Amino acid sequence: MTQYADLRDRMVDVQLARRGIRDIRVLDAMRQVPRERFLEAGFEEFAYEDGALPIANGQTISQPYIVAAMTEAAELKRTDKVLEVGTGSGYAAAVASRLAGTVQTIERHGPLARTAQERLAALGYANCTVHTGDGTRGLPDEAPFDAILVTAGGPSVPDALKRQLAVGGRLVIPVGNFEDEQSLFRITRRTETDYDEETLGAVRFVPLIGEQGWAEDGTRAASNHAAGHARAQSVTDMIRVAIEPLPAFDDPAFGALFDRFGQSRVVLLGEASHGTSEFCQARAAITRRLIEKHGFAIVAVEADWPDAAAIDRYVRGREHPGSHETPFERFPIWMWRNTDVAAFVDWMRGHNEQKTPSDRAGFFGLDIYNMRGSIAAVLAYLDSVDPEAAAVARERYGCLTPWQREPSTYGRAVLTEGYRKCEAEVVRQCQQILQKQLAYGAENPEGFLDAAQNARLIASAERYYRILYYGGAESWNLRDTHMFETLCHVLDAHGPQSKAVVWAHNSHIGDARFTEMGTVRNELNIGQLCREKFGEAATLVGFGTHTGTVAAASNWDGEMEVLCVRPSRADSYEGLFHDAGVERGLVEFRRHEALRRRLLEPRLERFIGVIYRPDTELQSHYAETSLPHQFDELIWLDETHAVTRLEPEHRRTGVPDTYPFGF
Ligand code: SAM
Repeated sequence: MTQYADLRDRMVDVQLARRGIRDIRVLDAMRQVPRERFLEAGFEEFAYEDGALPIANGQTISQPYIVAAMTEAAELKRTDKVLEVGTGSGYAAAVASRLAGTVQTIERHGPLARTAQERLAALGYANCTVHTGDGTRGLPDEAPFDAILVTAGGPSVPDALKRQLAVGGRLVIPVGNFEDEQSLFRITRRTETDYDEETLGAVRFVPLIGEQGWAEDGTRAASNHAAGHARAQSVTDMIRVAIEPLPAFDDPAFGALFDRFGQSRVVLLGEASHGTSEFCQARAAITRRLIEKHGFAIVAVEADWPDAAAIDRYVRGREHPGSHETPFERFPIWMWRNTDVAAFVDWMRGHNEQKTPSDRAGFFGLDIYNMRGSIAAVLAYLDSVDPEAAAVARERYGCLTPWQREPSTYGRAVLTEGYRKCEAEVVRQCQQILQKQLAYGAENPEGFLDAAQNARLIASAERYYRILYYGGAESWNLRDTHMFETLCHVLDAHGPQSKAVVWAHNSHIGDARFTEMGTVRNELNIGQLCREKFGEAATLVGFGTHTGTVAAASNWDGEMEVLCVRPSRADSYEGLFHDAGVERGLVEFRRHEALRRRLLEPRLERFIGVIYRPDTELQSHYAETSLPHQFDELIWLDETHAVTRLEPEHRRTGVPDTYPFGF
């Protein structure tokens, strides 16, 4: 007996929990019911194999995973009255009986029904009653039911079963062609007349034969669909079915696929590397659509605030204040100075030229690194609005002067060499600017937002570089919290109806709680913080690729190289999507519940940043994640290519002097 109990435990861990069955009550019930007691003599040793098995009358006992997935989908409660159609061995009814108040189960083959009743009685499952008959008519005398589970595939959903659902009740049933696979549906009765319908994925069951099912005839007998067929599709097949092909990026049909994001407050678009052209093009096309059709007016990117502010001035045709450095001169230059970003920036400018200043879309940086640029911007601003305050600010920021060019050395110097830390000065300066909002911001609110955000950046960056020296999660968390708060400040500054598109790496926008970042290293990120604040109004979109080329460096501060991306590992999510054989596609996980569940079990995912080290790819670039938890949707581009860095030859005639890339 303990031998079966051990096998059962292993089956639950490996076949169910790791494949995404999450409901603890369902997992417990699957741990309790002895599947070996529901098999024909001689089959017991296969009881915990991952598949369906033959039973009498040419029928099957379903694969454990399918039993668990259907039971989980039925959301059984302790008091529920349940109907199962297709008793077969009695196993699924036994599992349901551990979770619900009562289970009525009906089987068209008398011998199967009798054996099942004996087994259930022998196990003492007294809340389970077996009936013989045509289950497509339901059991009108026992109705209504809180849940109905149908374990054979019909051509359509029998009306009788829908009618016998209680309001709030769930009917889980496979529907499809007689010979082919079916789709698993969950139908929820909302009112006397309204039903919601969801597809949970592809399955393959023996046919449902009866008045409201298939007709019985020799060639289509249930015995033709025997052992091994009542199983879920392979995960790559499920991906192939679920993935929506993507038109070309410049085809309006591409943007239209994302119209459903129109209701979101924030749409976060990731990237699986910082140097891939197709990721940039896809993000730009989605963003254009959201700006043009859905009133998004904020593009907030993983770039430094003062650098992005130069782009913002260009795209919104705003004044160029006195002191300004050429933006995006810091490593990794290609991440922003590339032809795809330049094309998007030009599009934004052209779009904005048709709009009144208050309706123009802006470009904002969320990141923390350009402390020097921010100090210069705050001083230039104060020089223009309050020269006395500028003199005080110069004094305060002077504390950071030795570290402005190499801020990463600040932390070590303060901690080990006894230099003065500048925290009090930068925090005080930031507070003082914020207190002057009314005085400074009255005439030029945009200018005030810019200065206040730079002052916040300096305060965050001082702390960031100080704690960076220790390593660990704290500095990462500070940076992502700063990025998130910056996003919130920008949204607030644009009013309660404002909507933002965020461009950042997958590691920032995919919910960190479902990656090693959160589970192992205690790190959070913008995606997680947005979900916590905006709930369903935040949409998180990840990107993935199998192979191709990428622009990256081999070391920090190194030269950009165009490197070949190794084909993705077979044991990664990328490997699964590649095996599905789709070149470009989009998966919306919430619309494909069965696939979502299959993909929940953690797997490797590849993260390429500005550095790519193919030789140590596994250690350097792969981490375990639960992809459908991490993102709401995934954009898959099987083969991708490096971005093209902007070189001086990209200078175009007629480009205004203020062109942000400064040629
Ligand atoms: N739930 C079962 C188990 O755990 O062993 C598996 C059932 S098997 C895949 C499907 C069962 O549905 C077969 O035993 C078949 O005879 C039965 N069936 C098909 N059409 C039916 C109908 N109209 N009414 C009742 N049972 C039906």
